[in-house]
Amino acid sequence: MNASSTKIMTLKERDKKHLWHPLTQHKIHPEALPIVKAKGAVLYDEDGIAYIDGIASWYTAMYGHCNDYILNKAQQQMRQLDQIVFSGFTHQPAIRLSEELIKILPDNQEKIFFSDNGSTANEVGIKMALQYHFNKGEKRNTIIAFEDGFHGDTFGAMSASGLSVYNGPFEDFFIDVKRIPTPNSENIESVLTLLHSIIETHEVAAFIYEPLVQGANAMHMFEAEYLDQILKICKGCAIITIADEVMTGFGKTGKNFASDHIETKPDIISMSKALTAGFVPMAITSCTQEIYDAFLDDSVGKAFFHAHTYSANPIACAVAIAGIELLHSEEIQENIQRIVKSHKQFNDKIKDHPKVKTTRQKGIIYALDLNIDMDRYGKKRYEIFNHFMKQRIFLRPLGNTIYILAPYVITNKQLKQLYDGIIDLLEIV
Ligand SMILES: *Cc1c(COP(=O)(O)O)cnc(C)c1O
Repeated sequence: MNASSTKIMTLKERDKKHLWHPLTQHKIHPEALPIVKAKGAVLYDEDGIAYIDGIASWYTAMYGHCNDYILNKAQQQMRQLDQIVFSGFTHQPAIRLSEELIKILPDNQEKIFFSDNGSTANEVGIKMALQYHFNKGEKRNTIIAFEDGFHGDTFGAMSASGLSVYNGPFEDFFIDVKRIPTPNSENIESVLTLLHSIIETHEVAAFIYEPLVQGANAMHMFEAEYLDQILKICKGCAIITIADEVMTGFGKTGKNFASDHIETKPDIISMSKALTAGFVPMAITSCTQEIYDAFLDDSVGKAFFHAHTYSANPIACAVAIAGIELLHSEEIQENIQRIVKSHKQFNDKIKDHPKVKTTRQKGIIYALDLNIDMDRYGKKRYEIFNHFMKQRIFLRPLGNTIYILAPYVITNKQLKQLYDGIIDLLEIV
């Protein structure tokens, strides 16, 4: 090839040619930053610049990027069995994963159903709940969900989500969803009254909720005792409760699942994200024996006819088993305690800063609201994002909320880098 005809394009230029990024208005948003490598809590760009991954790449890489233990298990599995249809066949990684998960899930959970991502895990949960009633000969077609919840971007999950920036063009096509506010000490009575009135006037099939922390809703947190009151009412009316633990699962709230903080256990739990530790996509919807039994019949029609081609992919299952092993290692458990304590100390330091409106923490999830008005995807948000990137830290503001949800393996030095970046921001914002 002759040198003059080969123009070397950068990754950024090549990206723009054919790629369409999620949650991105390509006309106004800045170009995407190429990342070439990741290890532990650190991301590396093309120029070798290192950034601390302060949000574990959307709460997935909790044991650190490219974790060697998980990598080895994935490699072993790749050589043994890559993929097999999960309808009519089974395999050891799926069987072992089901056994390991049942050990750590709330003890009413008995059955494990596979899909590919957080949205489909919720889609499966909603479909299970609707068909549960259908199979029992009851027509129930309303879902209850929290205002401003987020459950994913497929139609069922999107219908249950209350964040309008995602939903606008599709609202005419939604399944029937009624919303209640998240409860707190002041509104709990009115929330329960509203809940009762929805139940009285609709055939309610299910209640779907993010337990204790609403991730996409700027890490909004609420108390277990009030959620428990809502769940008890649902249980009393045979409304299937679906805990969306896609974000909160696998140790982030200080226990295996956020549902472990709540007395009343959900009928269905959806999980993804940290399930496969940032390696490969997979999701699981677990349920009780009672739900499962409602699908058993001599007629095929009562079976759950939902499948994804890659359901229970053996490599993803092997990765998930390794992740659960790590979660329960002494090292990771100690790390979780260390991060919880470290965030508390940081909070003591900054909570009274004039630029800080409120702060909150649940387990290793820490969030603060800035004392300024900001659009979720507005200009200011990009300025703050860029400020952090210049400090070599990746933190992703949600409106005026700055949050940390770092990998469990983050070092104290790296944590300090995140804290210092936030303190710097408070001085200039
Ligand atoms: C991310 C998320 C989802 C959607 O998961 P995807 O894998 O992005 O489809 C659903 N619910 C919650 C709580 C989430 O955080």
